Amino acid sequence: MQQELKIQNSLSRQKEVFKPIHEGRVGMYVCGPTVYSDVHLGNCRTFVSFDVIYRYLTYLGYKVRYVRNITDVGHLEGDTDIGGEDKISKKARLEQLEPMEVVQRYTVGFHDVMQVLNALPPSIEPRATQHIIEQIDMVQSILDNGYGYVENGSVYFDTNKFVKETDYYGKLSGRKVEDLMTETRDDLKNQSEKRHPSDFAIWIKASPEHIMRWQSPWSVGFPGWHLECSAMSTKYLGQTFDIHGGGNDLKFPHHENEVAQNIGSCGHAPANYWLHTNMLLMNGKKMSKSDGNSITPEELFTGNNPNVSKGYSPMVLRFFMLQSHYGSTLDLTDVALLAAEKGYKRIMEANQTLQGLQHSGNGSASELDQRIQGQIAQVHIEMNDDFNTPKALAVLFDLATTINRLQGGQDKLSDVQPETLAQLQQVFQDFLFDVFGLKDETATGGGQGNADLMNGLMDIIIEVRKGAKETKDWPTADLIRNKLGEMGVQLKDGPEGTSWTRDI
Ligand code: AMP
Ligand code: ZN
Repeated sequence: MQQELKIQNSLSRQKEVFKPIHEGRVGMYVCGPTVYSDVHLGNCRTFVSFDVIYRYLTYLGYKVRYVRNITDVGHLEGDTDIGGEDKISKKARLEQLEPMEVVQRYTVGFHDVMQVLNALPPSIEPRATQHIIEQIDMVQSILDNGYGYVENGSVYFDTNKFVKETDYYGKLSGRKVEDLMTETRDDLKNQSEKRHPSDFAIWIKASPEHIMRWQSPWSVGFPGWHLECSAMSTKYLGQTFDIHGGGNDLKFPHHENEVAQNIGSCGHAPANYWLHTNMLLMNGKKMSKSDGNSITPEELFTGNNPNVSKGYSPMVLRFFMLQSHYGSTLDLTDVALLAAEKGYKRIMEANQTLQGLQHSGNGSASELDQRIQGQIAQVHIEMNDDFNTPKALAVLFDLATTINRLQGGQDKLSDVQPETLAQLQQVFQDFLFDVFGLKDETATGGGQGNADLMNGLMDIIIEVRKGAKETKDWPTADLIRNKLGEMGVQLKDGPEGTSWTRDI
């Protein structure tokens, strides 16, 4: 069953066969949140996408070291590299808090949301402020290698020199070097300190009012935003590692500058594969807090937002996200969420039915059996094709139809080999729960137990109705059928006895 995993690499713009540097092990770095306010659902989409990637790599048997940082310093307003105010400092100033109080509050909030969405914690979650020494060392290496210069206590990366000596700048973002080199950002202060408009700050001298500041050989200041990811990925994953991820809005300047810093400091590009998630939109427009087009997880769960007609559960949200490929945009609308809610319920109920199916022990390698086996393989093929969750889910939905037919008696378990049924039960459990990271919110008493209970109760009800029919107690037999029908459970009398199905 093991096929090759293929990944869309932003660096080559090609789908490539994934070959880890060390056999059986994967190092993956994902840019984490800037903890100056509540995460919005756009952020969640990126982290849920990487959670599924992490889970699938683990499912394939890799030992994954997953590093996702917390940005708690250096990310300036407007995503600029100088001139803007630090996002965390600004929040601290506005709310009269210590910067670390801001960081603590929103880091805890972020973790809570990740837990509710059933996203696994990363193996290491380093914070920028705890790696100032590593960042200062990296700035020093860049200076030693001649790719940086000091101006009035700040240190800048010399993009002009980098472009002349390497062919890396612009490679990841696909921007033309000439455009990058002529781009000016007149809106920013301190531009005059740069030798070239496209140079970017790697150490910034703190102005007197700036509260987050550290000693360095060049000034009392703070690191540039891009630097933390270069320094922390190198520290925990080595100079070159397997996968670097983030939202595609980070490709430029953040990731492009990260590559420049890594090569400028140690001569190696950081990652072999760059994965970028696409943006979550709301009603067709990028979800972004600064544009006011955003919704928090809490608002979605409670329905307390004008963009939704009611609250949706965390697993419906997760399922909604799985229904699109991480590389495509995803538009959050009330209609799409309602559809996701139905789909989620249908797949969970199919799984409950499946886990309750019991094989008598005799089954043939029929056409149906072959088809089920082919679909089981297909689920893996789709996931190996750049983690294609929507297509893998579509196969599970096809299988759900078969499961309901088996339950309803339209298809016969005697046409399915016991091993095939066991494999099918396993693949649903593995993919729904371990790989897609869903939880069964439809089962009050917990997945398998609930399905067993339902099957047991239906056996008793069918037995009672059989007794009524045998004594010609038609009113009771009809009452049972009608009441079950009102609850969406249909009885079907056949030569082999009575079977039941549930409306989906
Ligand atoms: P930030 O906290 O702004 O640094 O963002 C954290 C992560 O969320 C980054 O990887 C961003 O690319 C990602 N992100 C921000 N907005 C969206 C969005 N609308 N859709 C998907 N990912 C997003
Ligand atoms: Zn980063």
